[in-house]
Amino acid sequence: MTKVKINGNGSLLVPDCVTIPFITGDGVGVEITPAMRRVVDEAVRKCYGGKWRIDWLEVLAGQKAYDMSGVYLPEATMAAFREYHIGIKGPLTTPVGGGIRSLNVALRQDLDLYVCQRPVRWFRGIASPVLRPDWVNMVIFRENTEDIYAGIEWEAGSAEAHKFFNFLQQEMGVDKIRFPETSSFGVKPVSKEGSERLIVAACRYALEHGLPSVTLVHKGNIMKFTEGGFKRWGYEVAQKEFAQEISSGRLVINDCIADAFLQNALLRPKDYSVVATLNLNGDYISDMLAAQVGGIGIAPGANINYHTGNAIFEATHGTAPDIAGKNKANPCSIILSAVMMLEYLGWNEAAGCVVNAIETIFDRKMATVDLARFMENGMALGTKEFADELVRIIDGVSV
Ligand code: ATP
Repeated sequence: MTKVKINGNGSLLVPDCVTIPFITGDGVGVEITPAMRRVVDEAVRKCYGGKWRIDWLEVLAGQKAYDMSGVYLPEATMAAFREYHIGIKGPLTTPVGGGIRSLNVALRQDLDLYVCQRPVRWFRGIASPVLRPDWVNMVIFRENTEDIYAGIEWEAGSAEAHKFFNFLQQEMGVDKIRFPETSSFGVKPVSKEGSERLIVAACRYALEHGLPSVTLVHKGNIMKFTEGGFKRWGYEVAQKEFAQEISSGRLVINDCIADAFLQNALLRPKDYSVVATLNLNGDYISDMLAAQVGGIGIAPGANINYHTGNAIFEATHGTAPDIAGKNKANPCSIILSAVMMLEYLGWNEAAGCVVNAIETIFDRKMATVDLARFMENGMALGTKEFADELVRIIDGVSV
């Protein structure tokens, strides 16, 4: 058996040799994805001595898929993710041209990967714009399928915008639109089910990892029914599902208005542990927090559906065309995403082994140029040489 099996309760049955579909990705993906595979293979070999291993299966998406098959996201790729449940991907070009969806959004929506999970932590040695980056240690749970990302909007001046305005004015009695003729309109769907499943996942994660709190971040003071609904449904579902954990103090649920959260996360980040938030807030928050600990080159991410077990781990940055092909890209984002994947599989020893190697390499002041240039006496390594060094470190570790 090489396929992960998903039990009825969403738990995983992982075979000794597990097939993992992967998308190399465009731009720097060609450099960072092979680097990630080498490091992961070495950690798995070191920890399990050949008893457990990953069988990598390349699936196509992005420019490479287009060049070979004329489509950016072939059905065979989606089928592989559905069949094997767990995959990993490099960054993908968003195709230019009307009507083509972002491939990242398409993957998330088609597989209903409703949690976008982004852990943010600092590694010693990494330069930061804040005084105490070591105080930043959070896991963001960003809702991944709703909010204004649903893509329901109409451009100013279009027949649809006009029709929508007429409906608002005539049927709904809306008289607050200041410049109706030149207004574009967008719709922000936020549902009880969508909010609840995200918040339940965040609470479970906090409990499973012994983390102290879940903070609901929202702008419910202004958007009372959408963002305010998220907060209200969040408190209600947490109380319903985790009453005992809350009353015993094992789990603390609180909330924070999004603008205050952005300030607090800079001033006293220690106050926050697991953060559950809506799609757009989550986008802003994860980039701001990533900037505090070293930037997008080092920020991992995962898109998960805890009911089907489907999960795609990914580099969170783009294709970085300005440095593509130059052996300069930092592979840490996708390597740390692979760490999340190993943890998701329950292969915690291999995950820990990779994290140790990254801590060691930064302690030795070695990094790719994006990080090394800000380190005192930092030594800049190419993408490949950085991965070589990680492999050497892992090989030298006694397990
Ligand atoms: P895309 O159009 O695919 O979003 P982009 O260049 O607009 O690409 P990013 O790829 O996210 O957006 O890059 C933003 C900046 O961060 C660029 O200067 C890029 O070189 C840098 N960058 C992104 N990823 C990495 C990485 N892995 N290592 C080093 N620098 C990176």
